[in-house]
Amino acid sequence: CGIVGYTGDEQAAPILLDGLEKLEYRGYDSAGIAVFDGEKIHMAKAAGRLKVLSELTHDGKELPGFIGIGHTRWATHGAPSDTNAHPHCNKDQSIVVVHNGIIENYLKLRKKLESKGYEFRSETDTEVLAHLLDYYYTGDPVSTIIKVMHRVEGSYALGILFEKHPGEMYAVRKDSPLIVGKAQNGNLIASDVPAVLKYTREVCFIENEEIVKLTGNEMHFYNVDEEEITKEFQTIAWDV
Ligand code: GLU
Repeated sequence: CGIVGYTGDEQAAPILLDGLEKLEYRGYDSAGIAVFDGEKIHMAKAAGRLKVLSELTHDGKELPGFIGIGHTRWATHGAPSDTNAHPHCNKDQSIVVVHNGIIENYLKLRKKLESKGYEFRSETDTEVLAHLLDYYYTGDPVSTIIKVMHRVEGSYALGILFEKHPGEMYAVRKDSPLIVGKAQNGNLIASDVPAVLKYTREVCFIENEEIVKLTGNEMHFYNVDEEEITKEFQTIAWDV
């Protein structure tokens, strides 16, 4: 299981597929990506090998956009299937999320959201995150993410896109790994360093409950009190 994300000057989908391939060693049963072309978020997901997803999207060439998130899934809640594969989204697919980890109180949250009229498409614990981000949306992604963090119990590394915030990618973690990479033509997130080494050696390890906001040429980091924090980058010496 792994997550990747990219925002920058290049077409995102091929970079996401390449990153997911580098995370294959973590094990997975399905994969998916979401890209945003500035107007709409597009998703492609498939159970099985990454090859199935690559063929479906013609190695990503079919998917336009300079920003996107990707996921390889190791199913914990809900069978490995196209529908249960990530990304998961809110009703109109204007908020998309990829997730590694387990949301332990998802059933309680799902019942609450269903009572508010939210309809679920999958059997995953992850889908509650997409609807919670919709439910708690304040107009500002960082404060929205913090509200959701206060409601969920469990472990997570998340990559998130909001259609209302073009060019911006958000990420956060708790007890699942997450790194940020600063590349020449854009910025990346990933579960682990190998996914970004083709593009950069400048990486930053995100700590528990730190929130990341990336654009193609800017990075901001926040704590759970919504205060901006400074993060150190390090240069990875190892070979690909
Ligand atoms: N718990 C989530 C699911 O079953 C994420 C699993 C993972 O980390 O890949 O969909």
